[in-house]
Amino acid sequence: MQEVTAAPNLDQALNVIVQRVKNVMNADVCSIYLSDFPARQHVLMATDGLNPNAVSKVRIDFNKGLISKVAELAEPINLDSAPSHPVYFFLPDTQEENYHGFLGVPIVHHGQVLGVISVQQTEKRSFVEEELTLLVTIAAQLAGVIAHADAVGEISGLHGHRTNPDKPFKGLAGAPGVAIGCSIVVYPASDLEAVPNRKTDDIEGEIKVFETAVEETRQDLLALQDRISELPTEDQALFDAYLLMLKSKNLIENTIDRIKAGYWASTALRDTVLEHVKLFTSMEDDYLSERAQDIRDLGKRILMHIQSDTKGSLVYYDNTILVSDELTAPALMEVPKEKLVAVVSSSGSGSSHVAILARAMGIPSVMGATDLPTNQIDGQILVVDGYQGNIYIQPSHRVISEFEKIIEEENKFSLELNNLKDMPAETTDGVRLPLYVNSGLLSDLTSSQGSGAEGIGLYRTEFPFMIRDRFPGEDEQTKIYRQVLSSFAPSPVVLRTLDIGGDKNLSYFPIKEENPFLGWRGIRVSLDHPDIFITQLKAMLRASIDLDNLNILLPMITSVSEVNDALSLVQKARNELLEDGYANLKMPRIGAMVEVPSAVYQTNVIAKRVDFISIGTNDLVQYILAVDRNNSDVAGLYDCLHPSVIQAVKQVLRQAERHKTPVSVCGEMAGDPAAALLLLGMGFESLSMSVVALPKVKWVIRNFSFQHAQDLFAEVENFEEAPDVRAYLNKALEKAGLGGLIHPGKQ
Ligand code: PEP
Ligand code: MG
Repeated sequence: MQEVTAAPNLDQALNVIVQRVKNVMNADVCSIYLSDFPARQHVLMATDGLNPNAVSKVRIDFNKGLISKVAELAEPINLDSAPSHPVYFFLPDTQEENYHGFLGVPIVHHGQVLGVISVQQTEKRSFVEEELTLLVTIAAQLAGVIAHADAVGEISGLHGHRTNPDKPFKGLAGAPGVAIGCSIVVYPASDLEAVPNRKTDDIEGEIKVFETAVEETRQDLLALQDRISELPTEDQALFDAYLLMLKSKNLIENTIDRIKAGYWASTALRDTVLEHVKLFTSMEDDYLSERAQDIRDLGKRILMHIQSDTKGSLVYYDNTILVSDELTAPALMEVPKEKLVAVVSSSGSGSSHVAILARAMGIPSVMGATDLPTNQIDGQILVVDGYQGNIYIQPSHRVISEFEKIIEEENKFSLELNNLKDMPAETTDGVRLPLYVNSGLLSDLTSSQGSGAEGIGLYRTEFPFMIRDRFPGEDEQTKIYRQVLSSFAPSPVVLRTLDIGGDKNLSYFPIKEENPFLGWRGIRVSLDHPDIFITQLKAMLRASIDLDNLNILLPMITSVSEVNDALSLVQKARNELLEDGYANLKMPRIGAMVEVPSAVYQTNVIAKRVDFISIGTNDLVQYILAVDRNNSDVAGLYDCLHPSVIQAVKQVLRQAERHKTPVSVCGEMAGDPAAALLLLGMGFESLSMSVVALPKVKWVIRNFSFQHAQDLFAEVENFEEAPDVRAYLNKALEKAGLGGLIHPGKQ
């Protein structure tokens, strides 16, 4: 597989495989066929043993022969005499007349058969179990390589895609909306491979940047060498080698030549260093091949200097589309909001926090675009379709003008929705369902205020923590919370205590875990760090003086003891402030999040202790369905309308009602128009959602009677599968004339 990964393209990778498998298995032939679905044919893509001229010419119809049978059954076929099998059919162009033994194994990726790998033998023999399992293992590893090659249009001779720029890269719908813009690729520091192809007009400037970075690296090395003068001479020799390499013509001149060809210093350095690494790695001599590591290390050191010397010099386009392999919340927040039109991440899913943040900012996003060649698309025109999860790279005018029309229609639609701003969220039979907004940034307070929300239902305090390089102090936090509380005063504002861990990390407080979503998260961190927690609580209490609209929400509650402990710490924080002379410190309302199954079953006892309950469906769905909310591979299984989730949410509501404890939903489920209709029918008395979802949900509420919503809930409660629930609710929305919510951007 290492050889396969090192192959420059898929054709060569397949050739390596057929040759090696044929040798290892002592077979006479090994071939790989890939499926051309539009033509309904399997195409011979590589062979060692059959006529090489037949490659990419031989096409077998889907219903013919043994290869098709393997693909159809999606199971291996192992025969000692292939010609005696009823479906056998002879391929004249391949010169395969002499073969009897046959083993064919399907190449399966995420449930789809992409092709078949087969071995053949002149003599009559069936292949032994070890051979079968070897071929199955190779096919399984090959599947991912083929799926990726297909997605990036590298499969020549099959159906030659990606020459067509209008075929989008597929990802997952992250935040709704579409955008046309120019991409800026962000990448982790000191990671050579992640550096994007970026062009420059300022050749002289970039050469200077490079030369300065080389000189700084040289100074670092000299300083290090000084410090370790007591080390044995052979260890010191390494530094001499580094210093020599730094002077080498190959490194310096090749990089400068690349800059002169129009590339940025980092891109030029990347290509020079990786070229040398490749050259050294391929050397037979162990000593020399190990030098590859040193060259890479030296390259990283130079890159680090380039990056720190040019930090902050990145110029954002007026319509920036931020692209990254692993987009983080701080990277997103670094772009001036008025310049950011879309975000794209090749990892994560629609339930990742970056996607939630994008939604809160009203910025379309596509997540989990695993095949996107991120480092090759810097500075290119992209179209991002956050509804379908599609990304078009340098598309034709036709696609651009199609999306321009969609953007125009969307703008009209949101103007219409905006008319509802000052109208109450009230059903046609007069039942009020107050809608609150989810927030996490100071910059989105203005849009929250203009959304017609009746308060803030969830303020994620971790976001301001994430964009700093140390914990914010009590005074600093007080200022932030004061702005948030006063933006909606006297209406209620819910400040959630720090909820870090999972996919929300603080650069200055790294938490490294095998299983972060089942790890040290939310209230667990706060209770283990009363220093951090009390500081935050005091800041919240001080910020609320004379506003009295503070509600404090505790995240990730799993056990009653956590509620008890948190409540005593709130008391403690208040007492300490009173002792310090603060007056008018009203006790805030305290709420618990129900977002873990254990809390669902104990809502009864939790509800007795708190003033309100807020259901965090984002986490609840992931824990009930055992689907990591951040994993694009299983995102298709993540569904808030799964009947088990519906039952859990209902159970929390009914238990809380028994104690007359108000309960609302603040997860993304509340902002999903179909789900919101269901929650209305279930009997919720308030919902909290992103600012973009709020007018849509208000539109739903104002178009349905409470009675109708109750009837719909009673119907779907008996359904057994999520797609049936969604289809039924969507039908109801369409019937009510709200189809625009189901096919957004396509009205
Ligand atoms: C939730 O889990 O539903 C929630 C609102 O919290 P977060 O998305 O920040 O985890
Ligand atoms: Mg949560």
